[in-house]
Amino acid sequence: MSSPTPDVLALLEATLDAVVIMDDRGRVLAFNASAEEMFGYRAADAIGRNVSMLMTSQDRQEHDGHVKRYLTTGESRVLGKGRDVRVRHRDGSEFSVFLSVGRIPRTDPPQFVGYLHDTSLRRKALATLEKERQLNRLYLDLAQVMLVATDRNGMVQLVNQRAVRVLKKKDQEILSSNWIDTCVPPEDRPTARAAFRNLLMSGSDEPQSCEYHVRSADGEDRFVTWRAVALRDADNVTTGIMLSGEDITEQQRAETEARRAVERMNSVSRLATMGEMAAGISHELNQPLAAIANYAQACARLLRVPSPDLPEIGGALDQIAGQALRAGEIIRRIRSLVRNEDVRREPLDINGLIREMHALLATDARVHDGRLDLDLHEDLPPVTVDKVQIQQVLMNLVHNAFEAQSVQPGSEPIDVRIATRLTDEGDIEVSVNDHGPGLAADLEQKIFEPFFTTKATGTGLGLAISRSIIKAHASRLGYRANEPRGACFYFVLPAHVETAS
Ligand code: ADP
Repeated sequence: MSSPTPDVLALLEATLDAVVIMDDRGRVLAFNASAEEMFGYRAADAIGRNVSMLMTSQDRQEHDGHVKRYLTTGESRVLGKGRDVRVRHRDGSEFSVFLSVGRIPRTDPPQFVGYLHDTSLRRKALATLEKERQLNRLYLDLAQVMLVATDRNGMVQLVNQRAVRVLKKKDQEILSSNWIDTCVPPEDRPTARAAFRNLLMSGSDEPQSCEYHVRSADGEDRFVTWRAVALRDADNVTTGIMLSGEDITEQQRAETEARRAVERMNSVSRLATMGEMAAGISHELNQPLAAIANYAQACARLLRVPSPDLPEIGGALDQIAGQALRAGEIIRRIRSLVRNEDVRREPLDINGLIREMHALLATDARVHDGRLDLDLHEDLPPVTVDKVQIQQVLMNLVHNAFEAQSVQPGSEPIDVRIATRLTDEGDIEVSVNDHGPGLAADLEQKIFEPFFTTKATGTGLGLAISRSIIKAHASRLGYRANEPRGACFYFVLPAHVETAS
C-alpha cells in the first residue's frame, strides 16, 4: 500500500471538499482535514480502515460490487460521474453529500480518490432562505397597510394580502400588470403618475407621500394615503418603487360626517340665536316704548289743566324724543349684530356714561318708590365700549335689581347702587348692587340661560343678552352675593390703551 506523496497531501489539506483516497481493497490511504471535519474521524484513525465505515449499510454492499466489477471488467458505473449519496458520520447520523470518484492515474494496483461535497449545507442554506422568504411573506400579509412593489415601468412585482383584499382581485391579476393602469381610477391617474415620476426622478431616499384612490374589481373607489420609496439595486440604480398605503376611506367619511354635523349644529344654533334675538328685540324695545307711553300720558294730563306747565311738558316731550331715538338705536344695533357687523366701540369715560343714564334709570326707581345711588370711583382710565350696548346692560341690571327688591315683604328701603372701581390689575369694574333676596346657589348659572325666568311676565332674556354683550367686550358678566344681603351683578372692562397711529 503506497501512500500519497507529501505534495499531494499538502494539496489535499488545502481542499475545502472532503477528500478520501483508497486502495483497490477499499482501505483508506489519505483523509484530509475537511474529511475529518465532515465525518468526525481523525485522519490517523481513518487511515488503514475500510472506507465502508463512511457509508450507509445499503451503499456498503453496493460499494464492494462496484469495485469488484471495475477490477474485473474495467467498467465503472461510478467513476467520473458525480452523484448524491447518503453517508454516515462517526456518531451514526447520516447526511447527504455530492460524491465524485476518480481513479488516480498510473497507480497499480489502482487507487481511487473520492471528493465529497457537503450538500446538506447548501440545502440548509436553501431551507433557511425559504424560511426567511415565508417569514417575509407573512410580514407582508400581516401588515395592516397595503404594500405594492413595482418595477421602473410600474409593473407590479409584489402585492400583499391587504392590498389584494382592498382591490378584491386575485394576486395573479395584479402581479405583472401596470399598477396605475389597472388599479387606479382614470381621474386619479395623473396624480398617481406624477407622484411615481417624481419619486423615480428625485433620487431621494426619503419616503414621499401622496393620496389617490384605487378602484376595486367591483368598481368601488377607496381613498388611500400612500408613502412611497425608491427601490435600488446593489449599484444604487433605481429599479422600481415600493408603496405602502393606508385606506382612509372610512376615516374620511367620518370626518365629512363630523364636519356636516358641526355645520348642521351651527345653523341650528344660528337659528336659535335669531329666535333669541327676535324675542330680545321685543324685550329691549318694551322699555323705551313704555317710557314713551308714560311721558305721553303725562303730557296729556299736563295739557288738560287750565294753565299747562309748558316747561314741564317740554321736558316730557324731550324725554319722548330721547326714548324714541334710543329705540331706533336699539333696532339699529340689533340689526348690526344679526348682520355680524362690527359693533361701534369708542374710548369713553364709564362714569360719564352712567351719569348720563341716571335720569333714565331714576324713572325705574320712581316706579318702585326706591332710590338709585351712584358710587363712582373718580379718575378712572377710559374704556373702549359700544355705548348703547353697555347702556342696555346697565338698564337690564338696574331694572332687575328694583324688581327683585319690590317683591320682598316689609318696609325695607328699596335702593340700588351702581358702583365703579379700579381693580388690582388696573381694569374697571362696574357693579349693580341691591338688597333683595339675592340668588340661591343652584340658580347662579341658570339665570344666564336664555328664557330662564322666575317672574310671571318675565322673558328670561335680559341677563342672557347682557352676558353676550359683555362677552363681546372680552369680559364676563358675573354674579356674587352682595353684603350683607342682596345681589351684585358685575363686569370688568379693560382700560383703554392708546395705540400709536
Ligand atoms: P327676566 O327679568 O325677564 O326674568 P332676566 O334674564 O333678566 O330675565 O333674569 C332672569 C332671572 O334671574 C330672573 O327671573 C330672576 O329670577 C333672576 N334675577 C335677575 N336679577 C336678579 C336680582 N338682582 N336679584 C335676584 N334675582 C335676580
